[in-house]
Amino acid sequence: MKNSKTKFMFVMGGVVSSLGKGIASASTAYLLQSRGINLTMLKIDPYINVDPGTMNPYQHGEVYVLDDGAETDLDLGHYERYTNLTLTQKNNFTSGQIYQTVIMKERRGDYLGKTVQVVPHITDEIKRRIFDVAEGKDLIIVEIGGTIGDIEGQPFIEAIRQMRFDVGRENTLYVILTLIPYIRVSGELKTKPTQHSVKELQSLGIQPDIILCRAEKPLTNEMKGKISLFCNVEKEAVITAIDVKNVYEIPLKFHQEELESLVIKKLNLKCNSLSINEWEKMVYRIKHPKDTVNIAFVGKYTKLKESYKSLIEAFVHAGAKLNVHVNLNWVDAEQIDSSSTKNILSNMDGMLVPGGFGERGIEGKIKAIKYARESKVPFLGICLGMQGAVIEFARDVARLNNADSEEFHPEASCKIIHLAKKWIKDEKIIERDEKSEKGGTMRLGAYPCQIKKGTKAYQAYNKELIYERHRHRYEFNNDYRKVLEEKGLIISGESPDGEFVEIAEIKNHPFFVGTQFHPEFKSRPLSPHPLILEFVKNAYEKRRTKEKHS
Ligand code: GLN
Repeated sequence: MKNSKTKFMFVMGGVVSSLGKGIASASTAYLLQSRGINLTMLKIDPYINVDPGTMNPYQHGEVYVLDDGAETDLDLGHYERYTNLTLTQKNNFTSGQIYQTVIMKERRGDYLGKTVQVVPHITDEIKRRIFDVAEGKDLIIVEIGGTIGDIEGQPFIEAIRQMRFDVGRENTLYVILTLIPYIRVSGELKTKPTQHSVKELQSLGIQPDIILCRAEKPLTNEMKGKISLFCNVEKEAVITAIDVKNVYEIPLKFHQEELESLVIKKLNLKCNSLSINEWEKMVYRIKHPKDTVNIAFVGKYTKLKESYKSLIEAFVHAGAKLNVHVNLNWVDAEQIDSSSTKNILSNMDGMLVPGGFGERGIEGKIKAIKYARESKVPFLGICLGMQGAVIEFARDVARLNNADSEEFHPEASCKIIHLAKKWIKDEKIIERDEKSEKGGTMRLGAYPCQIKKGTKAYQAYNKELIYERHRHRYEFNNDYRKVLEEKGLIISGESPDGEFVEIAEIKNHPFFVGTQFHPEFKSRPLSPHPLILEFVKNAYEKRRTKEKHS
């Protein structure tokens, strides 16, 4: 089980959840990478679900999809965005997967009749997976989901406790992110909850090496001293993780606190000097936009923004590049009907209809799309948004009045969007039908797409072959391709074998593009997604033209 070269940094959370462990881990990773350290990242989710694919986005936020088709926790999105790494299904696992493997091994007789137990069988499987993904790297940052003290998290804490003995003290680093609440009436920051969390961690056999203190205000020297004394860590290892408005500032704040140097020193990592100029410029442009552009975001889960995490970030990236603030106006699709459309949408510079599942709100989205098409408002439709755009075009322009999606009306007479039953991924044939189980039956992950020259899509990508990530069950029905093309629909992107329509757009419109894939999963702060960038550019253009004429 030994891994001779790799160092292991474990990140845990104390006091409360949602302190931003994922972003803290990703920010540290970015800084260490900028010093030339070859690293990878792992998120361990203690829940029993095998993957987050079937979890309600209201509860759990976005399902982030990787190139290899793994449906993962949204923290993997932060990891990829901050580090530019392309992660795989090995970089995220859950208790469910661990138990599934151990039980399968037990059924197969691998344990030779022994009693199968949390220690050592579950903890061994956890460690096996950590070593496996760390192979060949200088460093792995492992984030343990949940908060210290959670029942589900205990086998993971136990496994990483053992690892200090497996690989040596000098190769392991334990970091805890805690909250230092600010009590407004007395005007004080309070360290007690952190002391309790650290005690709890110590009672599980782990002494943290670094404490990241999430706080509204910087910790004073004196407070750091107090935490150091009570929590048994060096004072220089008590770091303020200050609240910021813009999450891309966090690496810069951590750098000011000398966090990466501390990690390098404690793990004795070989490294270069730091280069973060481009990142600093990007943060500056986000903080000092020259102008604003208003985008209507017409969706279903508009109350829970976490379910559109990558898309929201993709707009921040595009805005940073153009030095404008992209203001997303959240429009609940169910509120849109014929009388309200104009009122709600007429002040917008652009409209986005994101991905989604189920019928709720779809007719409102279709009305909004009609408005964008007719009023020449720059429009981007993603996955369900693209399907809605094609249905709207079929109904209104091609006069196929019953145009629908099989997802909403399986008996519909004109299924413009239908269930594709067979396709090829990585040279393997994949099949499904209406009865397939819900988990794992979608077209998932990166697929190639051929772009047609002379289209808006080509203008954005400036490339003929691209790879984009998918997460959906339904597809454009090729039986209708000819009639719709005759009426002016342009299929500007398709799978190289011509089986799947990947991008559709229309003529005589400043920008009206729908994609069957999710571009947002590949947008990065320093390299915004070309299509989203092009969309924002067009929306901004519209705004400036409007201002000139008013
Ligand atoms: N519900 C649609 C499908 O499964 C769209 C999915 C999505 O937007 N991700 O095809």
